[in-house]
Amino acid sequence: MTSPATACILDGKLTSQNLLDSLSLELAQIKAQGAPLPKLVVVLVGDDPASQVYVGKKAKTAQKIGMLSELLTYPADTTQAELLAVIARLNQDASVHGILVQLPLPKHIDTLSVIRAIDPKKDVDGLHPLNMGLLMTGDPSACKPCTPAGVMTLLKAYNVPLAGQNAVVLGRSNIVGKPMGMLLLQENATVTYCHSKTADLAAVCREADILVAAVGVPNLVTADFVKPGAAIIDVGINRLDGKLVGDVDFTSASQKAGFITPVPGGVGPMTIVTLMANTLFLYRQGQPTA
Ligand code: NDP
Repeated sequence: MTSPATACILDGKLTSQNLLDSLSLELAQIKAQGAPLPKLVVVLVGDDPASQVYVGKKAKTAQKIGMLSELLTYPADTTQAELLAVIARLNQDASVHGILVQLPLPKHIDTLSVIRAIDPKKDVDGLHPLNMGLLMTGDPSACKPCTPAGVMTLLKAYNVPLAGQNAVVLGRSNIVGKPMGMLLLQENATVTYCHSKTADLAAVCREADILVAAVGVPNLVTADFVKPGAAIIDVGINRLDGKLVGDVDFTSASQKAGFITPVPGGVGPMTIVTLMANTLFLYRQGQPTA
């Protein structure tokens, strides 16, 4: 494959807007039929400034497309028992179709216990072990984690070849890295996971036709990590000197890559639109079929 001088930008802003427009139409149809609208509830505990920005964006997007949404905010000293009681109430509430607990939670709360408490049928970020298991087995009823599912949508929107390609996923978190690899595998990519103990990271990454960086280390991926013509997906969101940067050094990597996502305007908007799509997906799964 010959390397283009500059990479094609995988525009998450544009792609997500197109998807939001079609979700908007679907929601208008539901409304016109007089059926109850899908409802997303986002739960925020504490005052992490980045989380506050994310939940604000999520609620605003839901509103824009005509989906019902509610943001529940609780102080940082909320106990685990109090949070579990909130989730139990939302699980019981038939008007709620998607529950998202914004991560990270304050340190005194056990994240896994909270995720396990969410009804898997309302687990809009697909993090409950049941949904993880369904994803692992390729079950179509799995609700897929928003960020990796959004990345797949973006890759497909730009017809990035997947089958038979070498995909390297940098990062192995439950929320991004692990499910990302599973989704690429389902599309018949040959998947390698890298993490903090990987020996010679750059050499492994240079084998990648598709490289997904989800580490949280600003500008870790430089041109030296990039195979000419590769698709580079930057999941990272980091603040550096007051600026938002990804895990990829965009300037150098984009000279070698075939496709690349910018930060901001790449994966971030795809995560949000996938959250909306997942809420609608869970809503439809819960509706009686005619
Ligand atoms: P985690 O901190 O949970 O996981 C980071 C992963 O990166 C771990 O597997 C870790 O390895 C690995 N890692 C860390 N440092 C290195 C290194 N120097 N070399 C190789 N691997 C390393 O992060 P998340 O998965 O939650 O998030 C990753 C990034 O993505 C963050 O910047 C986050 O803000 C962003 N993010 C963006 C979203 C979006 O919508 N755009 C959504 C979610 C997250 P090990 O397991 O060995 O510790």
